[in-house]
Amino acid sequence: MAHQYTLSIIKPNAVAKNVIGAICSRFETAGLEIVAASMLHLSREQACAFYGIHQGKPFFDELVGFMTSGPILAMVLAGDEAIARNRDIMGATNPANAAPGTIRADFADSFTANAVHGSDAPDTAAVEIAFFFPEGVCPRPR
Ligand code: UDP
Repeated sequence: MAHQYTLSIIKPNAVAKNVIGAICSRFETAGLEIVAASMLHLSREQACAFYGIHQGKPFFDELVGFMTSGPILAMVLAGDEAIARNRDIMGATNPANAAPGTIRADFADSFTANAVHGSDAPDTAAVEIAFFFPEGVCPRPR
């Protein structure tokens, strides 16, 4: 199993619901370690840049409006197969399809306000981690 880093974001709707601790607990229970964390309120420019791949799609404006509507918690999670492991416990992008017990099933409010972001592949994880943590992360002693 490969030791990986992945970017996680607790999105504005979940921060507003005061469930940061509950979500981080899911990560830790799944064996993922938080090795970087930053709470911030994205500007429109930052949100457009982060979700640049979705520019032009019908949901883009709603997504940018939502992601700039309040603070977020960006984190780097580390662990064996961290990218897939995080996606598993997040659940499907559309919370209507998210399996029971997943983060999105329990904390999403809509397709857009779906509580969490998680990188989907090693190359996107590297780009997304550098976006929020250009100074690098703080690995645990192993
Ligand atoms: N999204 C949306 N409507 C859609 C598809 C996506 O509002 O039809 C939002 C949703 O918040 C999602 C984000 O855009 O998490 C990025 O979409 P992506 O397909 O990359 O899903 P993810 O990787 O977040 O599961």
